[in-house]
Amino acid sequence: MSKSEFANSVSEAARFLGIAPPSDLEEVEKHYPVMISSYYLSLIRNQENLRQDPVWRQCMPDRQELEDQVSDFDPLAEEEQMAAPKLIHRYVDRVVLLATGKCATRCRFCFRKRTWANGTELKDITQDELEAVCAYLRKNPAVREVLVSGGDPLMLSARKLKNLLEKISGIPSIEVIRVGSRVPVTFPQLLTAEKAEILAAFPSLWLMTHFNHPNEVTPEAVKACMRVIHKGVPVLNQTVLMAGVNDNAAVLEKLFRKLIASRIKPHYLFHIDPVRGVRHFSTGIDKGLEILREFRPRLSSLAVPTFAIDLPEGGGKVALQPDYEVNGKYPSVTDKHLIGYEERPES
Ligand code: SF4
Repeated sequence: MSKSEFANSVSEAARFLGIAPPSDLEEVEKHYPVMISSYYLSLIRNQENLRQDPVWRQCMPDRQELEDQVSDFDPLAEEEQMAAPKLIHRYVDRVVLLATGKCATRCRFCFRKRTWANGTELKDITQDELEAVCAYLRKNPAVREVLVSGGDPLMLSARKLKNLLEKISGIPSIEVIRVGSRVPVTFPQLLTAEKAEILAAFPSLWLMTHFNHPNEVTPEAVKACMRVIHKGVPVLNQTVLMAGVNDNAAVLEKLFRKLIASRIKPHYLFHIDPVRGVRHFSTGIDKGLEILREFRPRLSSLAVPTFAIDLPEGGGKVALQPDYEVNGKYPSVTDKHLIGYEERPES
């Protein structure tokens, strides 16, 4: 990877796009740095109104990121649930491993913004940390599934990725490994044939991609996913519902249709988490339910993901369906759980 493949500031991104640098974003990038692959920048299409472009909104700073000073940086209590270095243990049968802090592009909606705000970055997991993780997993055989996350695990070198997967899959109680990555979306060329080979060597491995808009499903992105699909790796996708990006049934329908045509199953549609610096993307839960309702008569179940929210304080995921709505309430979720999921503040 050469330096020219990334824009590390608003002015570098503006130079790439051939526009004058926006003058009101310096303060935002001091808090939440900019890093965007030139590939992802090339997907910005709305030259008439750049700030309304769905790719721009996902990767370029917005002043609204600084306006929210009340939300928590870690409302899902991931830090509290660290059971071993970089290992989050929330559910009985599965854990999340933060393998690296590197990403191919810093997403403005990232719910782990705390790990890269103000110039910080989680380091790649060390050998000692990995040994401690494996020791924990050996002591806790109820854990059967490891979600390798970050940052973006496909930003690890091929050697580190292989070593990590070998160590984890060597634990007798681990039945499934999920690798969560936005590389196929933001820099698909980094899902190389070598890395595809490594992923495919683990028969119980699933790849979880993170496409949010149909403009991201490019021939390059599909080609990258096909490198693993052709080797037998199942690929699921999770999408975050975001105001001004994809909070529209027609946009999401196009996205999900493109994904299933490429053998990528839309798995989850998440409501945005109430994390500091991302609240301006919030749509409110009703918007997601309304979109699901629109899908019912016209979209195959293969294309419809589960709509879910992550409960604050580490309470875990809850799936929501329009049918479950009774008298305007969501029976499986209490009012306490809904704090932070209200409509986004007026800007
Ligand atoms: S790639 Fe993932 S971890 Fe990295 S900034 Fe985007 S959402 Fe956050």
